[in-house]
Amino acid sequence: MNPTDAPDAGRQTPGFAYRGRLAPSPTGFLHLGHARTFWVAQERARTNGGSLVLRNEDIDSTRFKLEFVSQMIEDLRWFGFEWQEGPDCGGPFAPYNQSERFNLYRAALEKLRDGGFIYPCTCSRKDIRDAASAPNAENEEPIYPGTCRQNRESQIVNRKFSWRFRVPDGETVSFTDGNCGPQTFVAGKDFGDFVVWRHDDVPAYQLACVVDDAAMQMSEVVRGADLLVSTARQLLLYRALGLPAPGFFHCALVRDEKGQRLAKRHDALSLRTLRGQGKTPAELRRDWAE
Ligand SMILES: [Zn+2]
Repeated sequence: MNPTDAPDAGRQTPGFAYRGRLAPSPTGFLHLGHARTFWVAQERARTNGGSLVLRNEDIDSTRFKLEFVSQMIEDLRWFGFEWQEGPDCGGPFAPYNQSERFNLYRAALEKLRDGGFIYPCTCSRKDIRDAASAPNAENEEPIYPGTCRQNRESQIVNRKFSWRFRVPDGETVSFTDGNCGPQTFVAGKDFGDFVVWRHDDVPAYQLACVVDDAAMQMSEVVRGADLLVSTARQLLLYRALGLPAPGFFHCALVRDEKGQRLAKRHDALSLRTLRGQGKTPAELRRDWAE
């Protein structure tokens, strides 16, 4: 499978409008790592004469806090981000809050179920840890051993379950990343069957992301290089759902002085803290260039 050969990947065709997005999740303060990736996304949209969408990825109600949304928007504006569509300003593909788009995710889930692409999984985290084999790629989740592949929904009574996508074992998924070049992952080896709908009745990141990027007609997705393998998963979802896939541009991750990836726990590097210390966005951006 090579989606970049598909006609819909013809992003340079005349009259084709570049559409990019910022897709932060309001589970903590934005930090410099997010800002850097988002800045690349904004630059990509600007240099391609396109538009930028702000999508609020607030699907995870267990972790998301309401006050973070307005703070997140304020931090982004302070840093110099400008978007043409978003939860604060609306647009042709509204709503831009994922929590308001569940009907779309559910429709996609039903399509996957009707097409036989997914199966109900009753495994606990411990079951998977005990039975799974380690993946090849660094920082990846263990490969699901396929325990529940034969499950039928009708056989599961009074038990919570998640929906898992059955990957085509041994199939090579290739794409050409706009930044990292040609990428190749083998289904069942580099990544296994993955959850598309969680046991707590919430769509998984992979499904919501694919549904929204297609519905919002994104032409390119800019995000951190930690999601390269996820892109392979998502390409399988695009195919299963019969949706055109966007182009991808994965950026190197910002690391701290110890070489660790920045995470939301690095409070010292949150935009809010840096702003409180009197740093300006221009100064912070200048440091990236060094
Ligand atoms: Zn299972």
